[in-house]
Amino acid sequence: MGNARKMQKKVSDDLKIIDSPDKLQQTDGEFLQKLATDEYWMGLALQQAKEAADHGEVPVGAVLVGKDGLLAAAGNSPIHLADPSAHAEILAIRAAARLLHNYRLPETALYVTLEPCIMCMGALIQARISRLVYGAADPKTGAAISLYAIGSDWRQNHKIAVSGGILADQCGELLKKFFKEKRSQGLGINPPF
Ligand SMILES: [Zn+2]
Repeated sequence: MGNARKMQKKVSDDLKIIDSPDKLQQTDGEFLQKLATDEYWMGLALQQAKEAADHGEVPVGAVLVGKDGLLAAAGNSPIHLADPSAHAEILAIRAAARLLHNYRLPETALYVTLEPCIMCMGALIQARISRLVYGAADPKTGAAISLYAIGSDWRQNHKIAVSGGILADQCGELLKKFFKEKRSQGLGINPPF
């Protein structure tokens, strides 16, 4: 998506800060540095979710990150694209695959503000994505852990390392606020919560 290109310069500038956090390295380690990095990428996914909400879409955002940085960023767009498969995760995967001219995306991590659905977990497996990081859990349709654990099913030949709960409160609040506003307007969209 065009969004990714626009963000790339800013991201690379910010990454210099994150890659050399003297204080983090002194205090502790890999754990703090990893946490800071996960929160950073989830923050970018949250920006995509907010933009989706501004366009009347259910606010879910995703970014796909490779070893050299951001590959793609997308917000949920099924309404505007009249495409039930246009979830943020799918749009980010498609954009990255086009960018790399490769239908497999190994050694990448997908950050998404809401636990992915069955369709998106299927796409992550097809793309051979290594790692999934989500924000809020989705007890109604989540397929990473909540309803199904598709990425870690031993019958699948590809496993995905899954981390959840990164910036979960902010990701969840955005969804709750969106559905509360829709309900107050008398518009019926089934909330995930
Ligand atoms: Zn999905």
